[in-house]
Amino acid sequence: MSTSHPVILVVNAGSSSVKVSIYVVPDDAHHNVDIQPTLAAHGQIEGIGVAPRLVAKMADGREVTDQRFPAEQVPDHNAAFRLIRLTLSVALRDTPPVAIGHRVVHGGSEFADAVRIDDEVIAKLEALVPLAPLHQPHNLTAIRAIRGAAPELLQVACFDTAFHAGHDPLTQLMALPYEYFEQGVRRYGFHGLSYAYIARRLRQVAPDLASGRVIVAHLGNGASLCAMRDGKSIDSTMGLTALDGMPMGTRCGSIDPGAVLYLAAQGMDTDAIQSMLYGQSGLKGISGISSDMRALLDSDSLRAKLAVDFYAWRSAQEIGKLAVTLGGFDALVFTAGIGANSPDVRARICAHLTDLFGVSLDAAANAENCQRVSRDASQVPVLVLPTDEEGMIALSTARILRENGGL
Ligand code: ADP
Repeated sequence: MSTSHPVILVVNAGSSSVKVSIYVVPDDAHHNVDIQPTLAAHGQIEGIGVAPRLVAKMADGREVTDQRFPAEQVPDHNAAFRLIRLTLSVALRDTPPVAIGHRVVHGGSEFADAVRIDDEVIAKLEALVPLAPLHQPHNLTAIRAIRGAAPELLQVACFDTAFHAGHDPLTQLMALPYEYFEQGVRRYGFHGLSYAYIARRLRQVAPDLASGRVIVAHLGNGASLCAMRDGKSIDSTMGLTALDGMPMGTRCGSIDPGAVLYLAAQGMDTDAIQSMLYGQSGLKGISGISSDMRALLDSDSLRAKLAVDFYAWRSAQEIGKLAVTLGGFDALVFTAGIGANSPDVRARICAHLTDLFGVSLDAAANAENCQRVSRDASQVPVLVLPTDEEGMIALSTARILRENGGL
């Protein structure tokens, strides 16, 4: 990979981790918005401030480094970002980036597309922190750190909410007094970068299906489903925050709001409730063992089995809801860590969809994680497409760079 081409960094800052990917913009992308920048290297630090571990690899899999650090050496996100950048820039012979694309979880009602970051945008993103308390502050820390170090460098925010921005008001409503809807208390939807990538990928691999009604199941640590028509998002299972919809690794998904009132009345304070709903619920809460699907599938514990059964049944229920929004569906796509890699979980979910929707998996294709895992006789084709949220951010960042005369 020549580094004489422009380089874009993609930053995904989470609560205890920072991931940075380096993309190289090929010559033909200077004029063509559809040319995907090429991944050159990836680095990430996990366990910031606790047990920091830096892993960096070139895109061909060659390891650049795998190091553990004392907590005080990487106490915060600023230190983590500096360390990854230093490591990767050495690997890439110090080519400075021309732009940075950030994953930003919440864009509220304001942002329907990726946007160049300036002071006004930062202020608007700050106002959205209460809607994504575990993610948005870390996204902003990374943006501010880079702005402080290199104020002229083009930074772009790419939102998890933006792909869902055109939803019909019917699907955005919650049955609260209407003035709250007007104040922005509405269902937004998340994982939009993943869904935008899958919509694009489906157009490449199965254009006939892409133009129809498609349900995409993004099943990772966070999990949601998206209903698409002709590649556009129509509905999603997530709501105002990334807590709603399906149960997840540690998040509860949809629950009776009365349960929250009950716990508050019992004396549990808001912080404790928040940390339980985001961090101690879902697969982890039910199983009492782990949030990691692989660990639960390997376990003999009855509660691990209960957690997986509940997960599959609730996923299928949510697919049923989206099928109502779409008036049926022409394809089902599985993606993200669990969706793309677990034949077992796909089979359990699809078993709930056989009688009602005629979904029928091909056991051998499913076991191999093939691109099409349904039988020819299945009324609805089922596909497995790995997602690439970072690639989507690189694509949007290259577009905004081009619009700003940077390519
Ligand atoms: P994130 O939302 O953090 O990006 P991922 O998309 O990487 O997460 O998904 C992580 C989840 O995927 C974990 O629950 C992990 O156990 C699960 N997973 C990854 N590979 C497999 C597999 N082969 N079988 C079952 N689950 C898997």
